Amino acid sequence: MHIGFLGLGNMGGPMARNLLKAGHQVTVFDLSATAVSGLVEAGAKEATSPAAVAQAGVETIITMLPAAAHVKQVYLGEDGLLVHVSSGVLLIDSSTIDPMSAREVAAAAAKNGNPMLDAPVSGGTVGAAAGTLTFMVGGSETDFQKAQPILATMGKNIVHCGDTGNGQVAKVANNMLLGISMIGVAEAMSLGVALGMDAKVLAGIINSSSGRCWASEINNPFPGVLENGPASRGYSGGFGTDLMLKDLGLASEAAKQVRQPVILGGLAQQLYQAFSMQGHGGLDFSAIIKLYRQEDET
Ligand code: NAD
Repeated sequence: MHIGFLGLGNMGGPMARNLLKAGHQVTVFDLSATAVSGLVEAGAKEATSPAAVAQAGVETIITMLPAAAHVKQVYLGEDGLLVHVSSGVLLIDSSTIDPMSAREVAAAAAKNGNPMLDAPVSGGTVGAAAGTLTFMVGGSETDFQKAQPILATMGKNIVHCGDTGNGQVAKVANNMLLGISMIGVAEAMSLGVALGMDAKVLAGIINSSSGRCWASEINNPFPGVLENGPASRGYSGGFGTDLMLKDLGLASEAAKQVRQPVILGGLAQQLYQAFSMQGHGGLDFSAIIKLYRQEDET
């Protein structure tokens, strides 16, 4: 299949590579010439604008952009994809954006005769490179079926979440919970250790008891509990605090639009924001445990 791919960053770059590896023809565009040349070396064709991708004879276009403003510009801009793309071409946006923006762009695409899916991912850069991402997909069942084999070359779990925007709904709800639960684990671990318990023993108890969760088991924030976790290498790698902050912002914004209280989500957002302001935005989000411990302890 001939696929257009826009946004070749930390996630989009390896995703586009996996499409090439699966034998697809891929035409790429990114504002960064370095990102484009990396993909061209791997066998992709270069386009010099979103319009050029749309006019390259592609059957599907995938976008993986930083935020909603970029997505709107690329699809709805004066010289954007929707002005140039032929009707019937399937559009898939895998960027993480708020559900309302996803619905707005998909409605404009539908008017233009283009089916569109929101398909944000989880699994991070490691999952993007390994082709093991989870895709949370919003859109019609027919379009989901069409996209499934393409997404399966980049991911392992491809889940249809319902109508347009619901992929983003699943993503923001999950990540809000993740942000909250990480703070809960940080607080509980710090309390236990301050009261005299060994961190590894406490983590073992939690992970075989009712407090168990991804943040306690797979990415425990306490240094030394997991040998290969970010907490044991100075919180480098992993999922950056600023990326978590972005997702919590999306959750708050979406919640405001439907007047749904997200009390703990809002509190978590403020805690990560304070932590980011202190200069820790690039650290794995589990580093939030530093708020609970003396500087020389972590
Ligand atoms: P990134 O900043 O590494 O890459 C974004 C790319 O988009 C860059 O190469 C940039 O040059 C390009 N770009 C920006 N504006 C453009 C435009 N107008 N036209 C063409 N290209 C443009 O970001 P990323 O880490 O790859 O994340 C992409 C999306 O995936 C974000 O929405 C992010 O929230 C989401 N996400 C990221 C992760 C992660 O671990 N990095 C995990 C899950 C989801």
